[in-house]
Amino acid sequence: MSAVPVTEIRRCTRCVLPSTFPGVSFDADGLCSMCQEAPPAPEFDKIRGNLRRKLEEVFAAHRGKAEYDVIVAFSGGKDSSYTLMTLARTYGLKCLAVTIDNGFIAEQAQKNLRVVTASLGIDFLLFTPAPVFMNDLYKTSATTAVHTKAALTRASSMCNSCINLINNHMVKLALEKSVPIIAGGYIGGQVPKDSVLMVMDLDVQARFRSEAIKRYVKHFGPDAASYFGISDALVARSPLRKINIVNPMLAFGVTEDRIIEEIATLGWRKTSDTGSNSTNCLLNDLGIAVHYKQHGYNPYVNEIAEQVRTGLMSRAEALEKVQDIPDFARVERQARKIGLDWNEV
Ligand SMILES: [Zn+2]
Repeated sequence: MSAVPVTEIRRCTRCVLPSTFPGVSFDADGLCSMCQEAPPAPEFDKIRGNLRRKLEEVFAAHRGKAEYDVIVAFSGGKDSSYTLMTLARTYGLKCLAVTIDNGFIAEQAQKNLRVVTASLGIDFLLFTPAPVFMNDLYKTSATTAVHTKAALTRASSMCNSCINLINNHMVKLALEKSVPIIAGGYIGGQVPKDSVLMVMDLDVQARFRSEAIKRYVKHFGPDAASYFGISDALVARSPLRKINIVNPMLAFGVTEDRIIEEIATLGWRKTSDTGSNSTNCLLNDLGIAVHYKQHGYNPYVNEIAEQVRTGLMSRAEALEKVQDIPDFARVERQARKIGLDWNEV
């Protein structure tokens, strides 16, 4: 595997946040500013316990009232597979698993989508946006400033665009099917801190929607209006006024090894071609390489540092995940597919 080693970089002595990460500073002991503010790792068990109780209240309030209790944004990766398994089995929620096929789902991940939903006995929907739109979306995201600096600390530009499209699709489906809860499989560091439970007020959200759509249309062309927009008519037609958006992984507190062990019982198998930071997407390493070239840090480092800080990953394991950046030769085929020239990045 060819990769560019990241050397001679200063990293936090507790988590692995590098000095190149936006806004970070270090104290005399080499502790980063985020670690200085964070409680010690064992305290996170208590924090997660409180978050779980909050989620359980939401589940109890909505269970059994609609065709589905929850729409799960399901990538076939380890975290959303575990989320789906736990919501269905531990919490007894009627789940609808929904996957967006971005044209880059690894072969093993495609098998995992089928085997996980079949083992759990869950309905499964696959939506494939037009490849011509998706490829252009990725290329534009790699070459244009589409996202805020804060969003870019949590994921690469290419990932951010894709995530926003996925989130929008889930809201549309929730409205169409009157499903009161949408669940994502995001883990700490991938989403803002309060993302374990957010209540989307559809009337309030309408005010922001048109601005966001304009921005996406400007970058990605007129088709972006339907991929990133929700029509007022759909909102008006739906009996829902609020949607609960949950990211249960933030409350579960499970290690990667335990996740993989548990979902293996469903027939889930690890991919071998998606790099060290993804278990489903063949485009992920290109997103990392582009992000590193533009911003000088691995877009996964925030998430990985957060796992260390909260006691879910050892520092050694984390270092292994961030020490290399995929080099361009390894992702050239994917770059060609989206029409991206490395010199344009
Ligand atoms: Zn730190």
